[in-house]
Amino acid sequence: MSQTKSNLSSIKQQIAAIAATAGRDPLSVRLVAVSKTHSSAEIVAAYHAGQTIFGENYVQELVAKALVIKEPVEWHFIGHLQSNKVRQIASIVTTIHSVDRLSLAQEISRQYRKIGKTCQILLQVNVAGESTKSGTTVEGVMSLIREISGLPHIAIIGLMTMPPFFDDPDRARPYFAQLRLIAEKIRSKNIDGVAMNELSMGMSGDFSTAIQEGATLVRIGTAIFGKRY
Ligand SMILES: *Cc1c(COP(=O)(O)O)cnc(C)c1O
Repeated sequence: MSQTKSNLSSIKQQIAAIAATAGRDPLSVRLVAVSKTHSSAEIVAAYHAGQTIFGENYVQELVAKALVIKEPVEWHFIGHLQSNKVRQIASIVTTIHSVDRLSLAQEISRQYRKIGKTCQILLQVNVAGESTKSGTTVEGVMSLIREISGLPHIAIIGLMTMPPFFDDPDRARPYFAQLRLIAEKIRSKNIDGVAMNELSMGMSGDFSTAIQEGATLVRIGTAIFGKRY
């Protein structure tokens, strides 16, 4: 547990240093601690070490953890999401990073309306066009934004991407840079209900590059909690 605490403080220092070197306000980068496969006890320990936002990928696992964790953590959903499971997470998560189709956004809108809340969403973009990854295509993102922007109880706050895996994080740079350009293009259209202030990009292996390219939400698991088994 104290390993988690020292990892957290090291990651936070790195984030602040990388942001500062890139000429950015360190406070403009928020850390999402990706806790999938790790125990509720580890999450609570991280919370008491000052971490507030946690990201989960699996609905069942998230629901189980949210049931036992009483600390006021902020839950983000970052994994592939089936529409028929939105109902289970609506009262738990503030933010969904992985919206990639209209039908899913419609269901999010419907479920959050029922509980009288607004869900913050990011559109996941498959920048590299990998067949194994979720996400809308680069070509399709603008029309998807326009369709979703009219839905009540949804606030579109930005874009998310997962580049291909590279041993050298510098090779992910073009994908991060492209996501930022897409967000800027969308922002320039001034669409009602679309803020585009957030870029969710960067994981344990490549968050440094992602911050240099403008990430505002970095999703880090392994570097905080250790290896997943
Ligand atoms: C697991 C996961 C992460 C965290 O990856 P690490 O390499 O452990 O930091 C980030 N984003 C998504 C979407 C994930 O599924």
